[in-house]
Amino acid sequence: MLIFYTVGITANLKIVNEKISRSAAKAGRNPLDVKLVAVTKTIDLPEIIEAVKAGVTILGENRVQEVQKKVSSFKFQVSSERIEWHLIGHLQKNKAKTAVELFDMIQTVDSIELADEVNKQAKKMNKTQRVLLQVKLSDEETKHGVSEKDMNELLEEVSKMQNLKLEGLMTIPPFFDDHELARPYFRRLREIKEEAAGFCLPELSMGMSNDFEVAIEEGATMVRIGTAIFGERGL
Ligand SMILES: *Cc1c(COP(=O)(O)O)cnc(C)c1O
Repeated sequence: MLIFYTVGITANLKIVNEKISRSAAKAGRNPLDVKLVAVTKTIDLPEIIEAVKAGVTILGENRVQEVQKKVSSFKFQVSSERIEWHLIGHLQKNKAKTAVELFDMIQTVDSIELADEVNKQAKKMNKTQRVLLQVKLSDEETKHGVSEKDMNELLEEVSKMQNLKLEGLMTIPPFFDDHELARPYFRRLREIKEEAAGFCLPELSMGMSNDFEVAIEEGATMVRIGTAIFGERGL
């Protein structure tokens, strides 16, 4: 098991950013091509604000209701123009409207039905909704995501939807104590992107606290990191 010491959010962020730079350099990549999504689910506003003051610009949340409260009080307390909110948790169709209202990017579109609904709500709001497609590369029952088999059809359909801007792919591999075991999943997501020639999929959202360095070596452009910044989440 990895242990994260909570020496403070600002210090943790510095360490995370150094690790991002080091992994990018190791893979011959520009560290600026890797964006940090600070995962703030269950984290309270004062901590989020500390992270933003320390330079975080993208916040990842996994539940629509939780964010509804946070966004409004956040906007009171911080000048939030340069902050992006990303939905990284599963989205139910009946919450699509709120999600489109709240999130700059929805990383978890995984079916034509959901894409349709998000597109419809975005159209009503006269918004172009940035999205990623969540791809499921393992056979874990509990995980969401489109299967490789259904991937092409979803790509085709989403590309036609006028109020969606498809920017790339996202995946959550199974958890492994040995992060090297996650590498094939990250590599596979990059291959899927490369095989989907004809679609512009610049973003690969992959890698969390325990495995983001491996994900960057395999081409991640967004890493989603909670615990390594904020400490262990209470249950
Ligand atoms: C919680 C969560 C993360 C962050 O996980 P950590 O291990 O705390 O870094 C990343 N991605 C998704 C989809 C999550 O739900």
